[in-house]
Formats: sequence, structure tokens, C-alpha cells
Amino acid sequence: MKHHFDTEAVHLSENKYVSSASKVNPIYQTSAFAFSDLEELEGFYQGESKYLYTRTGNPNTDELAAAVANLEGAPAGVATSSGLSAIMAGVLAVVKAGDHIVATNDIYGGTYQLLSGELKDFGIDVSFVNFENEEEIKKAIQPNTKLIYTESVTNPLLRVENIGQLVQIAKENNLYSMIDNTFATPYLLNPYAQGVDIVAHSATKYIGGHSDVSAGVVVGHSDLIAEARAKVVNLGLNLSPFESWLGTRGLKTLSLRMERHVKNAQKLADGLKNHQGVRKVYYPEFVSEKGNGAIVTIDITGKCDISKFFKSLSWVKIVPTLAGVETTVSYPVGTSHRNLSNELREELGITEGVVRISVGIEDPEDILAAFIEALDKSYFVK
Ligand SMILES: *Cc1c(COP(=O)(O)O)cnc(C)c1O
Repeated sequence: MKHHFDTEAVHLSENKYVSSASKVNPIYQTSAFAFSDLEELEGFYQGESKYLYTRTGNPNTDELAAAVANLEGAPAGVATSSGLSAIMAGVLAVVKAGDHIVATNDIYGGTYQLLSGELKDFGIDVSFVNFENEEEIKKAIQPNTKLIYTESVTNPLLRVENIGQLVQIAKENNLYSMIDNTFATPYLLNPYAQGVDIVAHSATKYIGGHSDVSAGVVVGHSDLIAEARAKVVNLGLNLSPFESWLGTRGLKTLSLRMERHVKNAQKLADGLKNHQGVRKVYYPEFVSEKGNGAIVTIDITGKCDISKFFKSLSWVKIVPTLAGVETTVSYPVGTSHRNLSNELREELGITEGVVRISVGIEDPEDILAAFIEALDKSYFVK
């Protein structure tokens, strides 16, 4: 021992075991980066080294953000602590107090709370309108409107946004456009490549893919992402190194998983269409050449006992999220859309019979059989 025990115990190994040959980027589980002299520290400010403090930048976080940006065809990205913080960073990159946002009314529940609750307290105003109707979007635009916000595929009824039309309206009115591309993923759609300014993802979903990480990424034009990054740094929305590493690992198998998810979802949608217990199957007709997504939503008729249906879903669990490798179900009226007024739920078509299925990567026959069995068991004739 060179020093006393207490000093040796604190200083342990300190970078003596760094290898340049690690196949996978190691986890930089560190809150800050060390400098050996003032010249090296000055070098950081001159752009010679990239990292100072993890909240302002970390190799794992940057790796995830750059990978998602690359897959979206965007020049820049920043990773955040959740999908919602990615949305917040993206929105605040272009909108400030006194500004107005036009957003779709069938938006993800958490985003609805963020925009209509929290951002309202920041002095930002939002109009929610039916994006299926182009005129309604145009009518909602005010002199102080800065941003038009929507989702590429909506939850839970899977309306596919007309991205071309959105970009057109934004251009004509000199507005920024932003899309939440969580449901489609960069595998199916690249809204940035289609002209959208900012694209947000909940990496908690398909990018992570294994239901073991909460993360977000926002990508877009470099100047806008520089603004979004400033929000991440100053509001403390940064993602942890380990979560970033998990997100990056998940992303590597995105294609493989999506390929299977999409194939299984199509089979399930087709297989449930003619069951007497199903009033309607919501599954997009066309999202992309690669398929129509991995979520299937069904509206179960009043002739099925909904509670019995959920009880009869042998190995399929009720989980209030989506996008894992396991098939799971969620009940929007009981969870994500619980806080909406009956009126709005009615308008959106989210009834007591609506069940959202996140189709996993299991064998498609087993998935279909589990749902048929549950429908058969819960069906009764009045
Ligand atoms: C889950 C989800 C979010 C929020 O993401 P978190 O990671 O939970 O913050 C936003 N948009 C969509 C479409 C989602 O599915």
C-alpha cells in the first residue's frame, strides 16, 4: 500500500483497467469526468474532449441518441429520462410562454396531461382538435401558434397520421411540426425524412423492447436539437448511463423484433376479425411497406363478459404498457384513458369493450389460440 488504508479504499483502481478493445461500448457509470491538468480542462471548452459532467453529456447517452437519429435519417438527437421528457424537451425547444400548440385530440394520455396541465402552467396554450379533419387543424391555427403536434400511429385505436398533409400545413403556416413516432418506430416510419422537424420516441417501448428500461429520444434538425439538449441539461431530463446502454442494446434487435411483432400482429388481427365476440378489430391497413405495426386493438361486444375475458387469457398478462417481447393486454378505459371525460372517450370511440393488445414475438398460433379461448369462455348469449 502506497497510502493509508482509507485513501487506498477510496482510490481503488481508477482507470487502470481501461481496454481499447471492448466489443461493446462499456457503461460509463460515472457522474463526471476527470481532468489531469488545467490544459486538459480547457481542452473540453475548446471542443477537444466531449465529456465533463453526465447531466450535460455521457458517451452511453450520446450513443443511444446518435443511433436513433441515424435510423430516423436525422442529423442530431438527444436521449432523455423517459418518452415524456423527450416530448417535453422537443416541445420546449420551439415553444415558450405566450405561444400556442395545435395537437391531435387522440393523443397519448401522458402527453395530454403534459400539454394541457403542466405546459399550461408554463403559459403555453394548446388546442386539441380532430386531426382526421384537415379543416379543423387549419381553423385551430392562431397568430401565436408555433407548433403542430401529433403521433404517427395513435393509441389505442391506431389511426395512421397523414404526415404529408401535416408537413404541408406546417410549411404553409410557418409552423414547426413534431411527431411522436413511438408506435411505428424508425423501423416502419421515418417522419423526419418526410419533412417533420422534430421526432420523439418513448424508448421505453420498442427501442428498448424488453420492458426493462424507461427512456426517451428526441431527434431532428441540429439547431432544434441543440435547444432540446439545453432543456435536457437545464431541466435535468438526462438519461442514466445504464439505461442508455440498455436502450442501445435493445435497438440492435429492433428490426428482428419488429419483423416478428408485425407478422404476428397481422395474423392476430386477421384471426380475430370474424369472432362473434368481437365488434371491431382496429389494425391499420397501411403503415409502411414493412408492415402495419405491432398493436392490435379489439372492441369486444356487449355479449362478452369483459371481466371474464381478462380472467380467461391464460398466459397473457394485463400490463399498462406495450412493446415487450411478451404478448400483453391493456384496458384503456381502466388505465391510460381513465381520466378523460366520458364525452371525450365516447367521441374517440374508446368504449368499455376496447382492449389493446401488444403482440409479442411468441408463436403466432399460440397467441391467436389464447385470445380465441378467452373470447369463447366469456361469450354469452343474452
Ligand atoms: C409510452 C408512451 C409515451 C410516454 O413514454 P414514457 O417513456 O412512459 O415517458 C409517449 N407516447 C407514446 C405514444 C407512448 O406509447
